[in-house]
Amino acid sequence: MILILDSNLEPGSTPYAELMEHLANLPNIQARVHHVQGAQQMVTEVYLIGDTALLDLDDMASLPGVERAVRVSREYRVLGRHKNDRRPTSWEYRGVRFGQDTLQVFAGLCAVDTPEHVERMLAVLRDHGQVCTRMGAYKPRTNPYSFQGHGKSCLPYVFELAGKYGMQVVAMEVTHEDHVVEIHEALQEAGDPVGVMLQIGTRNIQNFELLKQVGRQSDYPVLLKRGFGITLEESLNAAEYLASEGNQRVIFCLRGMKSNLGDPHRNFVDFTHVPVVKRFTRMPICVDPSHSVGTRDADPDGILDVMHATVQGVIAGANMVLVDFHPEPSKALVDGPQALHFDELPLFLEDVQIARDAYLKRLDLQQRFAASQRGESAA
Ligand code: PEP
Ligand code: MN
Repeated sequence: MILILDSNLEPGSTPYAELMEHLANLPNIQARVHHVQGAQQMVTEVYLIGDTALLDLDDMASLPGVERAVRVSREYRVLGRHKNDRRPTSWEYRGVRFGQDTLQVFAGLCAVDTPEHVERMLAVLRDHGQVCTRMGAYKPRTNPYSFQGHGKSCLPYVFELAGKYGMQVVAMEVTHEDHVVEIHEALQEAGDPVGVMLQIGTRNIQNFELLKQVGRQSDYPVLLKRGFGITLEESLNAAEYLASEGNQRVIFCLRGMKSNLGDPHRNFVDFTHVPVVKRFTRMPICVDPSHSVGTRDADPDGILDVMHATVQGVIAGANMVLVDFHPEPSKALVDGPQALHFDELPLFLEDVQIARDAYLKRLDLQQRFAASQRGESAA
């Protein structure tokens, strides 16, 4: 059960302490407090764990200081959607809104290679009105002899250039909790020019200690990539690890499943799960067409499979696109064969917009249909 507290109930005040004492005395119940930054104000949510079936929802909702109570009806207590659950499905970071009703594009380098490529990429993004990008400094590689990313040595120039070109958010993978500290220190050193979204890759989705560490910090939101060889439920539980430790600013990324049944694509594209994840949880959903498709192959009309996969995700309501671009894909040190050339950025963005407009039309169609079913006349 979740108790959402009155917004004017100050933590530290006497009524707050009385409420907490009352909850602490409930038999076989543990209370976990989460402070969540809402659009206007800080919201305090109390998660009750244990024999909650014995608690009466109305009794709990009428406790002094409680605004409302929500019975958790399925898994994913914190991030899930529950009956009569009016907790938000969006949040803001660095002035950018991330939610189940928005769409953000994160185009950029799979891996940082040279300052020159970083700068050329950022300049093109800025010229096309982009404020978000992806740039990997720590790369998890299958082969130990492959380029592992420049690590913390590249952070100063990446952050400085990102700020110079007006970026608000850079998605950057971390594979160890030390990387979060290194990113934090480099940002402070550079004067905090840009925000970072910490990416946890498909290979680390069940690194539970990493999930807990990243979940315990609230400075940075998290982009969690679905495990390529586990069930959706297992991946969503990984997201819940982050949230149960306190960080609810989590975006869930579909990036394809490892299976030869998806051949000739690198992974079996799984973007039909966009509405499923929206139905189960309050997380914004990202799609990564680059790592799903993994090639620059195109249909007979010349439209790249990566672009087809992108719009399939967007037309199904995806809220974010993570996509590899490179000024010179043949020189990229990681994943060059799947990168789009930066000249293709305007084409890509326009294609995404076509799909987004189509999704919004579909939404409108459904809403008109639902209204007519309720017997309401069209406005
Ligand atoms: C990446 O986005 O660069 C990446 C390594 O992705 P994934 O974890 O999905 O393989
Ligand atoms: Mn990659």
